[in-house]
Amino acid sequence: MRRRFSAVLALSASLFATTAAIAAEEPPVGELSDRAAPRSYRIDMAVDPAKETFSGHTEIDMTLNEATSRLYLHGMGLDMHSVSAVASDGSVIGATYEQVLTTGVAALDFARELPAGDYRLVFDYSSQFRVGAEGLYRVQVGDKWYAWTQMEPFDARRMFPGFDEPRHKTPYQISITVPKDQWAYANTPLVRERPLAGDRVRYDFAPTKPLPSYLVALAVGDFTEKGLTVPANEVRKRPLELRHIATAGQEDKLAYGLSETPEILGLLENYFGIEYPYEKLDQIASPIMGGAMENAGLITYMDPLLLMGEDAPNSQKASFGNVVAHELAHQWFGNLVTPRWWDDIWLNEAFASWMGDKIGEAWDPSLGIGVAQISGALATMDDDSRTIGRPIHQEVLRNEDIKATFDGITYQKGGHVLGMFESYLGEQAFQAGVRRHLQRFAWGNATAEEFYDSIGSVSDDPRIVPAFQSFTSQRGVPLVTVTRKGDGYAIAQSHFTPIGVERESMSQWIIPVCASNGIKQECTLLDGKSGDLPGFDVGKGAYLMPNAGGNGYYRFALPEQDWSRLIAAAPGLPAREALAVADSAYAGFMAGATDFSQVLATARVLAAHPEADVAAFIPGKLSSLKNRLMTAQDRKNYAAFIRSLYSERLASLGTDFSRGAYASEDPEVSSLRQRLVAFLFGSGEDEALRDKLAAAAAASLAGDADALDPAYQAQAFSAYVQQGGQPASQRLFEAVLASTDSRFRQAGVQALGGIDRPDLAPYVFGLTDNPKLNSLEKIYTLFPLLGSPATRQATFDYAVANFDTVADWFSGFGNQMFGLGGGFCSASEAEAVQAALTPFIASQGSGQLDLDRSLAVVRECAALREAVGDQITRGLAEAAAK
Ligand SMILES: [Zn+2]
Repeated sequence: MRRRFSAVLALSASLFATTAAIAAEEPPVGELSDRAAPRSYRIDMAVDPAKETFSGHTEIDMTLNEATSRLYLHGMGLDMHSVSAVASDGSVIGATYEQVLTTGVAALDFARELPAGDYRLVFDYSSQFRVGAEGLYRVQVGDKWYAWTQMEPFDARRMFPGFDEPRHKTPYQISITVPKDQWAYANTPLVRERPLAGDRVRYDFAPTKPLPSYLVALAVGDFTEKGLTVPANEVRKRPLELRHIATAGQEDKLAYGLSETPEILGLLENYFGIEYPYEKLDQIASPIMGGAMENAGLITYMDPLLLMGEDAPNSQKASFGNVVAHELAHQWFGNLVTPRWWDDIWLNEAFASWMGDKIGEAWDPSLGIGVAQISGALATMDDDSRTIGRPIHQEVLRNEDIKATFDGITYQKGGHVLGMFESYLGEQAFQAGVRRHLQRFAWGNATAEEFYDSIGSVSDDPRIVPAFQSFTSQRGVPLVTVTRKGDGYAIAQSHFTPIGVERESMSQWIIPVCASNGIKQECTLLDGKSGDLPGFDVGKGAYLMPNAGGNGYYRFALPEQDWSRLIAAAPGLPAREALAVADSAYAGFMAGATDFSQVLATARVLAAHPEADVAAFIPGKLSSLKNRLMTAQDRKNYAAFIRSLYSERLASLGTDFSRGAYASEDPEVSSLRQRLVAFLFGSGEDEALRDKLAAAAAASLAGDADALDPAYQAQAFSAYVQQGGQPASQRLFEAVLASTDSRFRQAGVQALGGIDRPDLAPYVFGLTDNPKLNSLEKIYTLFPLLGSPATRQATFDYAVANFDTVADWFSGFGNQMFGLGGGFCSASEAEAVQAALTPFIASQGSGQLDLDRSLAVVRECAALREAVGDQITRGLAEAAAK
C-alpha cells in the first residue's frame, strides 16, 4: 500500500484535530455507510497495454448527506497522486487518500469538515495492469498487447476510486487515451475521436445509462471487428448496432456468433416484452476470461465462447448459445434491474443461468442445452449434500465473503430451483411475474424479497413464496421417498445424506413434487414431513417417475418393484427424465442403500439411451471414483467394463477422426460419438483407439490440416503425448506457442497436463514458466496433473511451493486455488492439505470456504472407500469376468 498526498493539500492543525477525532471510526469491512452517494462519474483513462502501468483521472459528483471530514470509499492498489473535493461554490478542499483495508477500502480525509451538500471529488492516480482477468488487465497475444476489464464483483476499484457497490447506479462518462494505432471500446457509442500530441488519440464515449460500477467496461488494442445492424422488431422500434470483436488474426471466427446473436436477442426481447436497454451491443473475446461478463453494452467472453471456426464442434456451439443467452439476459435482469447488495447476487446469476438454458434451448433445440442444464444441476446436488457448504442466499457482511457467492450453488442450484417453480406455476404465469418485476424496478435496484413479491403476485397460493424460500435459505438436497399406500402412493421428505456426511440439523422444505407415469403428469406441494401422491394408482401406467421432466430439485427413492419398472423404462424416457432416474439410482449407492453391482447393472441399461449425457451418466460418476479410490486392479476391471459397455456402439457409429468426416450428421449422434471416444480412450484404456487418435494428432501437427477434426483434439493430443513422451510433448508445446487459436491451445495444454507419467510431471510444471502461456492456459495445464493419481502429489507439492504464483493465475476465479487438494482420498491426506494451505488464507485474505469444501470432499471420499471399497472391488471383478 502506498500513500500519496495531494498537491493542493495544506496540512492544517484543524485537519489533525478532525482526523484524530474520526480515527476512532473503524473502516467498513462490508457495506459503506449512507453518508455519501455518487450521482455521476467522469473517468478519463490513459491506457497503453504495452506498458506495465496505466493512469486515470476520475471525477465523482457526489451528495454528502451529513457533515464530515472523513469519508470511506473504494480504491485498490491505486497510486494516488492528488485528490481534492470541489464544493458547489467552486471552492477546492484538499484531501488525503489512504487505502486502509486490503479489500480496497480507502479513507479520504478532508482538510476541513465538509457540510452536507453536493461536491465533486477529483482524483489523479496510476496503477499496474493485472495479469489475471480482474480490474484492468493486459495480455499479449502474438506480438501485440491488449487490455480488457473485469470489474465484478469488486475490482472496479482497481481501475478507479469510487463507491464500488451495486446499489449506486449512476451515469458514467468515459474517455480513453491510447497510442494512435489502437482502438478503444467502452459501454456506450464513441462520440468523438481527437488526435493528441505524442502519437496518441483520445476517444470520448457517450454518457451511460445508470450503471453500477461492476458493469463499467473498456477494452484497448489493435482489435479486429465485424458488425451488422439488427433490424427493429415488435418490442424494439429502433435498429441496433451489433459488433463482434477479437484480437488480430481471428476475423475468420467472428461470422458465426455475429449471425446467431440477433436471434437470441430477439427471443429475450420477446420474453421480457421490454426492448434491449442500451444504445449499442458489442461482444468482445478475451483469451483469459474464465467465462463471460455481462458489462452493459460491451459483453466480454472467453475466446472459445464467441469465436467459432467453420468446423466448430456442436459442444462449442451449445456453449456459445447458452452463455450468450445468459449474458444477454443479464442486460435486463441484473443491468436494467440490479441487486441492491451482494447477498442477492445469487438471484442475478440463478436467473441468467435459468434464462440462458431456456433461451439457448429455444434458439437451437438440436444442441442439447436443456439436457446439459439438468446435468449441471445434478452435479451440484453432490456439492450441496456435503458436510460443508452454503445455502443459495446468505448474508454477506464482509468484502471477503463476496467472491464465495459465485459458485455452483448460486448458478446451477439457483437456476434449477427457478425452473422448478416455473414448471409448477406454469410458464405464462411465471413470465408475467418476471415482466412485472422488471417493470417495477427498471433502471433501479431490487432485492430478492421484492422478486418473491413479483412472482408471488401471479399465484393464488400463499405457500409459493415460503416454498421458494425453503430452497434458497437452507442448504442441502431433499430426498423424496415414495412408498405404496393401499392402491396408491405416499411420499415423505428427508435430507439426502451420502456416506461420510454428518448432518447437524435436518431441514424441511415445501417441495413442488411433480410425478408422471408415461400417461399423465400430476403435481402436489409437499409442505409437511409426509403426504400423498394423488392421482397415481399402483399398476397403472408402465412406471412411476416421481420427478417429472427432471424439473424438481430433489432426489427420490422408490419401492423395489417400482425401481425395476422405472429403470427398465429409462432407455425410452426423454433425456432429462432419464438423467434424473440415473442420478437418483446412483444416489442410492452414495447413501449406502444400493449395492455397487446394482449401479453397474443400471449403467448397462442406460448405456442404450440415445442421448450421450444419459448413456454416460453413471460411468461419469465412476470415472471420478476411478482416479481417487480404485486400486490398480479395480481400474483394469473398470476399463474392461467400459469397453464392454461402449465398444460395439462406437464401432457402429464409426471412428473417422479426419476433419468434417461427420459434418452432416445429427448433432445428437456426433455428441454421442465424442463421449464414447472420450470414455473408451480414457477410462476404457482402449489401445487401438489410442493409436488411431495419436496418429491423427501426429499427422495434424506435421501439417496435414484435414487429419484431425477439432472435436477430437483433446483426446488426440492426449494420446499423442502419452505415446510419445517428452519429445512429443515438446512438439505439441511448440505448436501451442505458435498458435493464436485459443481452442487449439487449450486442447494442447490440457493434453500436456494429462501426461499421466510421474517422471514427466516436473517437465510439464516447467512449461508453465513460459510467459507466452496466459494465466488461463496455466490453470488448464495444472488441473489434469492434479486429477491423475500418477502426478497428483507432485503437482500439489509444486503448487504449494509456488502458491503466490499459482494464486495469480487464479485471479478472476475467486478462491478456487484453495480447492487444489480436492483430489485426494484419505484422512491423512486431508490433514496434509489443510496444513499446507491454511497459512495462505491469511495472506490471501479469504479462501476458508473453498478449502473446507475441498477437505470435506477428501474426507467423504475416504469414508466411502472405507464403507464400500470392497463392494466396488467385488462388483468390478464380477463385471469384468462377464
Ligand atoms: Zn451471469
